[in-house]
Amino acid sequence: MKAKACLFFLFSLLLSSPLLGQTKRGHFLVSNRSSSNGLAEFDQNTSLLKTAAFQAQGVSINPLSGNVLVTVPGNPSTEIFELDENLNFLRVFANPGGNINILHLAHNPVANTVIATNHCGLYAGPSAWVFDSTGNQIATINVPTTTCTALGVAVRDDGRYLLGARLDTGIFEYGPTNNFLGILRNTQSLVSRITGLAIQKSTGNIYVSTEFQGIVVLDSGGTTVIKTITGNGLNGFHGLAFDENENLYVANTASNNILVFDPAGNLVSSFPSGGIEPFQIAFFPTGLVPPPTPQFVSPISVADLKKVGAGFFAPDSHLGQDYWADKGTSVRAISRATVAGFFPNVAGFGGWCPTSKDPNRSFVRPGPALWLRHQLSDGTFFHVLYGHMQPSQKILDILAGRLPRGTVITQGEMVGTLAPFIYCGTTSIPHLHLGIWLQDAIAPSPWGYGTKRSFTDPIAFLLNQKPAP
Ligand SMILES: [Zn+2]
Repeated sequence: MKAKACLFFLFSLLLSSPLLGQTKRGHFLVSNRSSSNGLAEFDQNTSLLKTAAFQAQGVSINPLSGNVLVTVPGNPSTEIFELDENLNFLRVFANPGGNINILHLAHNPVANTVIATNHCGLYAGPSAWVFDSTGNQIATINVPTTTCTALGVAVRDDGRYLLGARLDTGIFEYGPTNNFLGILRNTQSLVSRITGLAIQKSTGNIYVSTEFQGIVVLDSGGTTVIKTITGNGLNGFHGLAFDENENLYVANTASNNILVFDPAGNLVSSFPSGGIEPFQIAFFPTGLVPPPTPQFVSPISVADLKKVGAGFFAPDSHLGQDYWADKGTSVRAISRATVAGFFPNVAGFGGWCPTSKDPNRSFVRPGPALWLRHQLSDGTFFHVLYGHMQPSQKILDILAGRLPRGTVITQGEMVGTLAPFIYCGTTSIPHLHLGIWLQDAIAPSPWGYGTKRSFTDPIAFLLNQKPAP
């Protein structure tokens, strides 16, 4: 019933949305990095419509708004500009600064983020940056190779994304929350000098453009080569993109043109790229997709949860929700957050015994309590108590000033691991105590048991409230 209501909501949103994409359907942009008029728009018949005055290395189109992001080389820093769908300049979207060279861009519609790859083998900075939809930097990525250069980027349907490493070859996979998932199995031996990536929607196959091997088509896991497309022996392939009929468009820097291959891999047309050194290709969305409604995530994954423990106000004015899991289990941020405070020795947070078993409550062992500051979709801030867990190294670094105080914790990010919790001096019951404090401040103690004050029922809160994206 809930899913049905949700679907109806999505449909009604779709029906009431402006018809973006109807006028731009089949249109695409090509970035040409050695041209001062380097951003070219083509229609669905591959006719050049216009160029824009940007020397553009990478280009990506927001699937939600139709706005365009381009990477523009500067001196020394590359900037990312945001343009409207008619290619008018709106603002500087992001500028990480320093001697960097941003190459390709990709929107991740599942995470509502933007991924930008960097030529860090020859320049400064990480392999890639991840920005939220407004251009705030939320993560940096360093692919685990000796030379960190990343060039291609492609996003899977579920929000996992791939980075292609050009110098130390291989394809590296990351989760929607930018956690490293691993290297795709055989890619270090199957492909070399990667210059672009794309994923075919119907099969999940990975198309890899390379400097010397043409285009190598791998299965979705990157384990086997399905075919190679050489384009009559031409080299210098860079960005790849599929149109809605799964024809493959290839930026060919060797002759400054775009090659089009049908789904079987036959070359069907080629046309000038509208500039010099075509680099990345991006299609306008075929229809406006409503943004996903953000939801809170459970602080303990379903796979790790052993038992839903004591709830709010039960059995004895308990001021949070308990989640039982093994000692050492990862605890995740319920939504995007910053660190508010950490208290390593709170009475009762390392162990305790209820009144019925210990009338004097003499067994009270100190333990850790972490507070994070979160935000609701309406802009309201609130604080969350994550009790009985040891904070992650990143949080310790933030608390110690080794990382900036405002460093963002992304939704689902591991914030710590469950610490021991000793029940009545004998039994070990490791669990997370999650307390939701509705004010924009750390609650005055007591925190575990007591009167309600601004604490609220975490389960009802997580189900009924929406986090800020
Ligand atoms: Zn508790």
